[in-house]
Amino acid sequence: MECPECGHENKTNVKFCKKCGKNLKKNYIERFNSQINLLAVFAGLAISTLILILCSFLYGSVAVSGAIDLTIYIGLVLVTMVFVGGITTGIVGCRDFEDGMINGLFMSLIALTILGFILGIILLITMGIAASIASALKPFASSTASQTPSYLNTASNSNSNSLEPLYTFLKGIIIIILVFVAGALGGSFGVFLKNGIKKARNRGA
Ligand SMILES: [Zn+2]
Repeated sequence: MECPECGHENKTNVKFCKKCGKNLKKNYIERFNSQINLLAVFAGLAISTLILILCSFLYGSVAVSGAIDLTIYIGLVLVTMVFVGGITTGIVGCRDFEDGMINGLFMSLIALTILGFILGIILLITMGIAASIASALKPFASSTASQTPSYLNTASNSNSNSLEPLYTFLKGIIIIILVFVAGALGGSFGVFLKNGIKKARNRGA
């Protein structure tokens, strides 16, 4: 390996340059940086966006009808799109499994950052609408609730209200972790597929 400082040709895997003593081992961020393949990451992002649009067309009406939990729907779509995007990244520009994992992870980070802004805005708007509907229905709700013992009713009400944001928050955290796992798995799976295709080709030739 050639020393970037003085140009001395060192043996591979030496930690310091024999001539000038420069540290030749890259730090964690430099190593991560040199393994990122931007072309592969953007190819993965492009495919992820396609999957996102496709999923919205396929399942969007189901989600809007309320047949499934919105957070679960969002999680399913995100995991699917990042996994397929990761496979694309792995196939386009990764050499080994570690490479595929790092690039897949990086791809899901970018996808989540972009989507985070969009989803954050949508959630803020829908929460605002939900809050105004709830406050508009409040007089009606309290008149029907008065038929049950009031101490029981208020207790159960405040309980579910205070736990609801916590559940949503936890679901969000789980979804984010799953998205990163899906990106990393997709990336290395893409490398696995590419290697498999190469082997099959070599066997056929
Ligand atoms: Zn040197």
